[in-house]
Amino acid sequence: MKKSQVLEQAKGQFSAKQVKQFERAIEIASKAHAGQKRASGEPYVTHPLAVASLLIDWGLDIDTVIAGVLHDTIEDTNLTLEDIEREFDHDVALLVDGVTKLGKLRKGMRDINSYLPKTKDNLTKFLIAIGEDVRVVIIKLADRLHNLQTLQFLPHDKQQKIARESLEIFAPLADRLNMGRVRVQLEELSFSYLDPHRYKYLKKQMKNRLGRSSKKLDSVREHITRELGQAKIPHQLDGRIKSVYSLHKKLVKTDQNIDAIYDLIALRIIVDDKDLCYQVLGLIHSLFTPMPSRIKDYISSPKQNGYQSLHTTVLTPEEHIVEFQIRTAQMHDYAERGLAASFHYNEQKLTDAYSKGKIAKMPANLQWISDLQTVAARLSAGEEVDVEQLKINLFSDKVFVYSPNGDIFELPIGSSPLDFAYRIHSDIGKNAYAFKINGKLVGFDYKLTTGDVIEVLTRRSIKPSLDWLKWLQTPKAKQKVRSSIKKNGK
Ligand code: MN
Repeated sequence: MKKSQVLEQAKGQFSAKQVKQFERAIEIASKAHAGQKRASGEPYVTHPLAVASLLIDWGLDIDTVIAGVLHDTIEDTNLTLEDIEREFDHDVALLVDGVTKLGKLRKGMRDINSYLPKTKDNLTKFLIAIGEDVRVVIIKLADRLHNLQTLQFLPHDKQQKIARESLEIFAPLADRLNMGRVRVQLEELSFSYLDPHRYKYLKKQMKNRLGRSSKKLDSVREHITRELGQAKIPHQLDGRIKSVYSLHKKLVKTDQNIDAIYDLIALRIIVDDKDLCYQVLGLIHSLFTPMPSRIKDYISSPKQNGYQSLHTTVLTPEEHIVEFQIRTAQMHDYAERGLAASFHYNEQKLTDAYSKGKIAKMPANLQWISDLQTVAARLSAGEEVDVEQLKINLFSDKVFVYSPNGDIFELPIGSSPLDFAYRIHSDIGKNAYAFKINGKLVGFDYKLTTGDVIEVLTRRSIKPSLDWLKWLQTPKAKQKVRSSIKKNGK
């Protein structure tokens, strides 16, 4: 990423005065990172420039973009927070500080001695860091996305680690912020590194199937366009292709049967207002036969992350199954850019609230962010808060646990240490005979909670038995146990 390109991009979005500030930030960052190189061999500053470019693209405000350029300076160069505070807005300094703290926190987790007694505390700090200003998380997402985009230059073990962490932590975070486009980018890249064979295989399968289905879709498309034209409903119609990773997830759920997946392609209809969405839904149902169990009204009851749309799956007279998604332009923008889109719509309001140190008003459908901010404010003020409670709002069905060297893993709620052992490696799972949680021995029936540090003790003579299944939550571990038993039985 070149300086001139990013500046050009900024000119399209910010005032001349703001662009000047931004240029100053680029100068400072270039100077601070002078001599440093990325693993690709490029000058280091190409990375913060790329991060800033993503943030501009996502429609973030100027303070966030400037903080994006400076996001690695405090940690990796001689620049200080005071230097930044002197040059720029107080907000910029706060954002860079937040991103730095998040980074430090994660490094600290790798150092077991300093970390073990402070397990809960680190989680609290993490929540404070992201709760104080959600723009910190958005900068982190841009940082992570660019690191994934340049992952080919890192050694294999680092690739795996970064990819797994991105899939388990950063993609769900993007999803919670309803940043759909970013979530998909993070998932596709991570998955392509974690399971390259499966990724390539599914991509090919999808291509074959899309080729076959595009003809049948063309006729449906024409039909709909004609009818909407007659009803004088202005609209935009396009096709949405399922991502490889979401196809993979769905295949796992439906027992690997690609024919059971109806929504490889969905037709998306974008109209001007909410009433028209329902009108179009009615029209589609009058033309084709709807499958009642697959009609979803996310307009009257949005998803937890604020996603809104009508979904329906229909059977055409030619007996083709087609999924439709109907929404307004604003809903669509919000589904793609999520929280970042609300900065675009309410930039002034939001930044005002932030700069006054008040808790920003969030769209009501992103209640969890306001909850997070309320809790963060109370924690900062030294109040006792039940952090466990909060975690439930954030990742309601997940626990986050750590290996002894601080790597973070996400598992479904109710998982046991044995699930964890299998998650690390099936060889560790099948030879597990005891577990230490936070240094203490526990049984196979122990249920993991967020913050647990797990050590798996193995012995080569151990073999999986049928009882193990009752302690396992994760399908993959169960499947491994079953196949081990089968193999040992032969
Ligand atoms: Mn970075």
